[in-house]
Amino acid sequence: MAIDLSFSLDAGFAKKPALDPDRVYDLLVVGSGPAGANAALYAARKGLSAGILGKRKGGQLLDTSGVENYLGVVDVDGEGLAKRFLDHVARYDVPVADEAEVVAYATEGRLHRLTLATGESYRAKAVVVATGSTPRRLGVPGEERFAGKGVGYCAICDGPLFIGKDVFVAGGGNSAAQAALDLAAQSRSVTVVQRSVLRADAVLAERLAAHPRIRVLLGTRIVEVLGDARMTGILVEDAATGERRTLAGDGLFVEIGHLPNAGAFASSAELTESGEIRTDERMRTNVPGLFAAGDVTAFPYKQIVIAAGQGATAALAASEYIQRTDFERN
Ligand SMILES: Cc1cc2nc3c(=O)[nH]c(=O)nc-3n(C[C@H](O)[C@H](O)[C@H](O)COP(=O)(O)OP(=O)(O)OC[C@H]3O[C@@H](n4cnc5c(N)ncnc54)[C@H](O)[C@@H]3O)c2cc1C
Repeated sequence: MAIDLSFSLDAGFAKKPALDPDRVYDLLVVGSGPAGANAALYAARKGLSAGILGKRKGGQLLDTSGVENYLGVVDVDGEGLAKRFLDHVARYDVPVADEAEVVAYATEGRLHRLTLATGESYRAKAVVVATGSTPRRLGVPGEERFAGKGVGYCAICDGPLFIGKDVFVAGGGNSAAQAALDLAAQSRSVTVVQRSVLRADAVLAERLAAHPRIRVLLGTRIVEVLGDARMTGILVEDAATGERRTLAGDGLFVEIGHLPNAGAFASSAELTESGEIRTDERMRTNVPGLFAAGDVTAFPYKQIVIAAGQGATAALAASEYIQRTDFERN
């Protein structure tokens, strides 16, 4: 039986009432990607009054073509999986504000206030920040054109599409080194291209150097991604001499880090050096009642199943926090 995955992400949201600015919600979730959707689902099932404020419903799932590593769900594209997540949330009484960008966050006694770019503000006893991250781009011609047609940002996710092929990894830090080693298990060749020096830990650098199918090009800048229907190679430039040459290959993984969307919470929540929100094992931040989940946190593996799991943890921990806190003594 064919499953129709075509849909409008607006459908589930349109039926929901807007959030009430006069109400104090138990839990407000910021972000409607996998972490935010699962946090809202768990909150609703715990009997909490909850709502979602999200800028772009579905989050990074909308930039993902095939998702082949979400347990129990095979052969679905990112948009199809986002629909399933959000349809599930829509079964509960969870109002969702879409195109709702939170630009300010403040505590008022034990309560939390979230203010949108449009000026409305909402209060809650607890907040889950599930604002995700954005993979850093190289910013070179051809990168956008061949995204999903050779150019990828997640080697764990898309590596299996390049079995027996020649791939490049852009970057020289630990994530680039780890991606190269993972890819080399299945690809014919892996070329790490780094514009300056290798910054990966010594143990990873040694493993790269020792691997028979990995070569490392240092002092080399990618200046263009080349191709026709799909990517066919890259144009690189020697940083010292300026000499340019074309390297043929089937894929390019850009592994130069993520920009966490900590935004409005950056001045209240404790962050890591790279701007990710620090949490404990219950996804609690340093601010009582403020939780974070998914790609915006310092947890190292940026994956849908992990973000969704952390969303559930955050909602359960928030429920426990609300039960134990005396909000009358605000
Ligand atoms: C190209 C690509 C392919 C990928 N493929 C896979 C894959 O195959 N398998 C896999 O497991 N993972 C994959 N990933 C990673 C996966 O998409 C992420 O780990 C996951 O989406 C993180 O979920 P999240 O909810 O934490 O954040 P996101 O999905 O980033 O969602 C964040 C949400 O917060 C909203 N938001 C941000 N700032 C604000 C604000 N100020 N106010 C209100 N809302 C805000 C956003 O609009 C969005 O709704 C891929 C990622 C990319 C980029």
